[in-house]
Parts: sequence; C-alpha cells; structure tokens
Amino acid sequence: MTRVFYKTFGCKANQYDTERMRQEVEVRGGITVDQSEEFEVCLVNTCTVTNAADKEARKFIRKIKRDNPGIRIIVAGCSAVLRGSEYKEMSEVETVVAGHDPVQVSLAAERKSELVQIRGFHEESKSSGIGDNPSILSYRRSATRGWLKIQDGCDRKCSFCATRLARGASRSRSLEEIINEALILSQRHPEIVLTGIHIGHYGRDLECPMTLSQLLHHLLEMVPGTRFRLGSIEATEIDDSLLDLVNSSGGQIAPHFHMPLQSGSDPVLRRMRRWHSREEYRTRALKIAEKLPYLGLGADIITGFPGEQEKDHEETVRLVEELPYTYLHVFPFSEKDNTAAAQLSGRVSRKVSRERGMQLRKIAEDKNMKYRSSRSGGLSFVALEQQGRNAITEDYLKVQVNDSELRDPERIYKGTLGGSGRDLYIDLHS
Ligand code: SF4
Repeated sequence: MTRVFYKTFGCKANQYDTERMRQEVEVRGGITVDQSEEFEVCLVNTCTVTNAADKEARKFIRKIKRDNPGIRIIVAGCSAVLRGSEYKEMSEVETVVAGHDPVQVSLAAERKSELVQIRGFHEESKSSGIGDNPSILSYRRSATRGWLKIQDGCDRKCSFCATRLARGASRSRSLEEIINEALILSQRHPEIVLTGIHIGHYGRDLECPMTLSQLLHHLLEMVPGTRFRLGSIEATEIDDSLLDLVNSSGGQIAPHFHMPLQSGSDPVLRRMRRWHSREEYRTRALKIAEKLPYLGLGADIITGFPGEQEKDHEETVRLVEELPYTYLHVFPFSEKDNTAAAQLSGRVSRKVSRERGMQLRKIAEDKNMKYRSSRSGGLSFVALEQQGRNAITEDYLKVQVNDSELRDPERIYKGTLGGSGRDLYIDLHS
C-alpha cells in the first residue's frame, strides 16, 4: 500500500481539493501519513496566486526530495495548470497533474500513469466511488470544521488574479450533490464552511439557476443542527435575502462575512478591474452591519498596487477606519506573470508597500482587540478546535476554552465570553 504525504499551498478551495485527492487515493488503498512519518509519495497541491507562490512550491519540492531521496513527487493544482512544463523539467518531479482531478492524482500515486496532461482541467474523471456518489467528500481530515466546495472558477476579470486563469469559468455543483455532501460532512463536523472561488455567483450557470440564498435555504432545511459559514464573498453579492436568512436562521448561519475590498480608492479599483466603486462597497458594508446585531467582518486588501499613490492609500485607510472590520488580511502587491496587472506601469517600491501594509495591519489589530473586548460578558456558540483547548465563535473569534474537560468535538457549544482583547476566553455551559 502506498503511503502518501500531502502538502497543500493556497486557499480553502485548494485545501478542499486536496481532501478529495486524499479520499480518492485512500479508496484505492493508499494510506495518508504526516511528514514526520515514512512515505513513498509526496503530493504537492500548488497555488499560483503570485509568482512567489510558484517559487515557494518549487523550493518545497527541492527540499522534500533532498530530505527524502527515495520518494516520488506528484505535482497538481493551479500552478501545475499554468506552469506545468516548468514542473515537468524538474528532475525531482515524477508526475504533473494539471489541475485538481482526484482520479488522475490517485492513478499517479499508484504509478498507473507516467505524466498526465489534462486538457479539460475542469472536467473530473469518474471516481471509483464513495457510496453512491463518487464526487462527495466524506470528511476533512484532522479538523473540527468541514469544508464544502459549492462552485469552482470565476467569471470576473480582476487584473491581478491568476486564479481564474487556472480554474476557468464559474461552475456550480448541483443542489442535490451539495446537500448529500453536507449531510455526510455533518456526521463528523458541527460546522461546515461553504467555499469556492466565487461563491456569490453560485447557481447562475445551473440548468435551473438558483442563488446562494436559495441554496442556503435548502441547506438549513435539509441539514438541521449544523452551523454553516460562508467563505469569502463579495460585498456586492450579499443581498437582502441573504441577510434576512442569516438573521432568521437562529445561529445556523454564522454572522460572519469575509468581503474582499482590495483597495479603498476608486482609481486603484479601476486599475484592478474591480466592478464596484469605493462607495458601493462602503454603503453595502454599512447596511450589512446595520442589519446584523453583531458581525465578524473581514476583508483582503492589496497594498502597493501599480499606480497606488499616497492619497489612494489614505482613502483605503479612511475606509478601513470607518467600517466595522473585526480583522483584515493585508498583502503587499506581488506580481504574477500573464495577468493584466503585470503589464501596468507605476510600480510601488516594496518598502512603501510594506509600510502601507503595516499601517493597515495596525489599525486592524486595534479594531480586533476592541471588538473582542466588546464581546466579553456576552453569549457565544462555538466549535471546538485543538482537542477542545480553543474554540471558534460564530463571529469568527478564536478564543481559549476556560477548562480542560474532554468534550465531544462534533457539536456546537454554548458559553459565556470573558476576559478581554487577546485573552478573551469562553466558559462553556455544558
Ligand atoms: S473575483 Fe476577481 S479576484 Fe476573485 S477569483 Fe474572480 S477574478 Fe479572481
């Protein structure tokens, strides 16, 4: 039996894809191991979000082969789609799977294929099967919260984004498949995160189109007792019916939105080829915060995008200060070949990008601490993590659990928050 170690780079969607690969390899008799154990195969699921991400994968491949000369390395994922020939040329790499097809990966692990080139990378091969439906993921390894990918790909054309180049147009999974997967995942996971590349466009491409709110409505009905959380979603795609559903769900949909902002300046947003203005984002965010009694609110921001002037950055700072963010993910702009942004003039130095990032991170940190303290004394419903030592609240705060009693990780617990700032903790009620 082949012992396989999996290494994943990149986003939640990529991590979900690795879980599907792991499951398929296991169905065919493979064994999943950690890096500290012995293994024959290393599967590297790559990310291509920046040139640095490609480089990081290549560095990892060289190192793992140096440390374990006898292993076979399979490279898959987004970077393998866009830079397959570069991986093919690496002497350390045995097989390249251009995409995320679990069957192609498992065949490569079994050594039933030498070099796989997939033309229609978004079309999956037929799996050997889990139950009646081969494309269903049954659990997420070593995790309390399950992930469920509801769609892949994206129809937008943001100038900095290579993800859509690697993953193609938006493709939604059917309602039936999603409900089946949610039912199975809910047996092991008290919370399921709905993930994808552009989940706000869920259902547009289906034969009978449906919206994300309609999908959630079905999930609440068919999978009661499980909490759902939305992965990253664009502010302009959170409509009133979605907000009403969050409010009326009795906590079954977590009051947490991660809404990419990227920049708070209109000229920069235009160069990024974002479809919304600063004001459209701002009014939507304020409306969302007004409608929900409390809310975990996050965003991605890119600093030092080509052409970003000091006044553009100040616009972003002002917007971040105004909106009720509880955390931010801030990245300095990093070039990516083949994207429109790579051709733009007006490079911003790394030093300036980093300084702007540090300023935004500092504001976000202060907001995060204030928000955490404001929740002290309030009730919360948490999913346990790390053997019950930590927990994730509905509004996406990581808190310590105030006792070390062993508990069932497969349910949501109610408790009272105490402490403040970084030291926020929860006393569980039962
Ligand atoms: S919305 Fe923009 S950044 Fe997001 S996946 Fe689509 S093209 Fe990329």
